[in-house]
Amino acid sequence: MRNPRKKHDELRVEGIGVCQGVSIGRAFLVDDPQGRIVRLFLPHEQIESEIRRFRAVVQVAQRQVEEAIDRMRTALGADRAYILEAHLLLLQDRGIGKQIEDFIRENNANAEWAIKDVTSHLLELYARITDDYLRERGSDVVDVSQRLIKILSGTKNYDLNEMADGAIIIADDLLPSVAADLDPHRVIGFVTNAGGWASHTSIMARSLNLPAVVGARNITSMVRSGETLIIDGTTGTVVLHPSPETLLFYTELRERQQQQYIHDIRDRELPAVTRDGIEIKLRANIELVEEIDIFQRFNAAGVGLYRSEFLYTQATDGLPTEQQQFEAYRFLAEMSGRDGAVVRTFDLGGDKLHLEGYEIERNPALGLRAIRLSLAAPAIFRTQIRAILRAAAHDDGWPRLKILLPFVTNLDEVRQAREIITRVERELIEEGIPHAAKVPVGVMIEVPAAVLIAESLAREADFFSLGTNDLTQGMLAVDRGNENVSSLYDPLHPAVLRAIRWVSDAAIKTGIPLNVCGEMASNPAQVILLLGMGMTDLSMTPSSIPMIRRLVRAIDLAKAQQVAEEALRLTTPREVHAFLTKKMPEMGEQFLATGQG
Ligand code: PEP
Ligand code: MG
Repeated sequence: MRNPRKKHDELRVEGIGVCQGVSIGRAFLVDDPQGRIVRLFLPHEQIESEIRRFRAVVQVAQRQVEEAIDRMRTALGADRAYILEAHLLLLQDRGIGKQIEDFIRENNANAEWAIKDVTSHLLELYARITDDYLRERGSDVVDVSQRLIKILSGTKNYDLNEMADGAIIIADDLLPSVAADLDPHRVIGFVTNAGGWASHTSIMARSLNLPAVVGARNITSMVRSGETLIIDGTTGTVVLHPSPETLLFYTELRERQQQQYIHDIRDRELPAVTRDGIEIKLRANIELVEEIDIFQRFNAAGVGLYRSEFLYTQATDGLPTEQQQFEAYRFLAEMSGRDGAVVRTFDLGGDKLHLEGYEIERNPALGLRAIRLSLAAPAIFRTQIRAILRAAAHDDGWPRLKILLPFVTNLDEVRQAREIITRVERELIEEGIPHAAKVPVGVMIEVPAAVLIAESLAREADFFSLGTNDLTQGMLAVDRGNENVSSLYDPLHPAVLRAIRWVSDAAIKTGIPLNVCGEMASNPAQVILLLGMGMTDLSMTPSSIPMIRRLVRAIDLAKAQQVAEEALRLTTPREVHAFLTKKMPEMGEQFLATGQG
């Protein structure tokens, strides 16, 4: 135990800075990625009501699961419902319920904490089972406990924004959906032990423009709630127990950054055109339709990527309905203006969101995710396509939305998806429901296999969107969210650069439009290479648009092409980094200074 009165020396911890900006504030420790499990010591007289709270939640969970079983049987067939039936059995298990109630009584604990404790113990027992099938049932325990905790948090007892008001959240990890719910007017940043630059939690931080550091390893064991700390989301530095000099330094830095932001807003109307006169489209990546006011703020050329799966996190009861989706897409279409928006169909699975009724997989990044899941559950896909086609309709006959298929690995997936889209269109005509005709269907190139067959995909797709995040992960076999291998996750690896060149050549040869929507499009040095390889359409975290606009205006495309040619001849990531560091000053690094004046 540390002595609370002892004065600590300043301590610096280095992690991965994933969203620029300095935050100075008190720490708020959270115990789980969902941000819902805090440990409370309840007064004796509150114990019985806490037990009633737990029992009520079990009832609600049972009702939810029973309804989900009915829906699942109708939408996906009887065989899919067996997983949820197992969940129901767990919820009805009196033994487990009693253990949780005893824990609340004996430890004066809140229900969330008791569920976490009892289920972790159960999971340890499951892990020791030798039978593969039975051992895998541990995932049902995880699922059921998460459902209970989700419902408990829905009682609004523990609202993270409220509890961490004005504070920096410190957690082992945060789910992307939890990061998505943070209110940047209240929470001023977060630091996690786990994570990487391109994980969805990091992407969410950038979307919200919330300073954040991930991969800070054991930060949770070094900080206590209430202590003052500083995070620098640009360098990835976390300062614990800062000295008065350090506090002054970062306070001034924060002020300078705020000034820069004001200049960026002022310059938002300047055209994104290179010195030699080539226009570069700068579009926004959006996760939540509420973020859309970002357009006005950064003057984006429409939405290059709408990650629709985040709608799923906002729906209170499973998948969003056709009407809920229609309203979201309609809003997106209206707000995006003439440049329109690209709606990527649900990229569920992977490190994002787990779809109810499907098992948690051992290797979700390579599992039943994205287009694979949409084709395996066509009822869900059809509903989404209906909503998109309806929302894309516009009086001038020009569809305001495009459809983008994620994680495509072979041409058959595109063909099957197109068949479903055509069938949905026919249904809408028959039902006399207004909708847009000829909505363009694009393919994400984010898997090595798709790179190699890019030319054949180009003949059947209306446009390409290059997902450099998954592509880097796939090319290098490095988990994009794993801090242990984060130094190996490198979009400047020669293999990744050559893959990008290959896609760019295929797009130019076949005349198909190509947009880059991975995180490379927000990184100045990497953008120089993208432009040099022929890309003129970039989609990025909205808050990066001002910086990339400044860069575009400062460089010569002809020079970027030379740099890209030279970089492509290098053979190690280290050589590419060293080369770019050398070249940046002549390539318009002054762009950083141009915004200051
Ligand atoms: C990508 O993989 O580069 C991409 C843009 O998609 P996501 O980050 O949502 O996986
Ligand atoms: Mg991806």
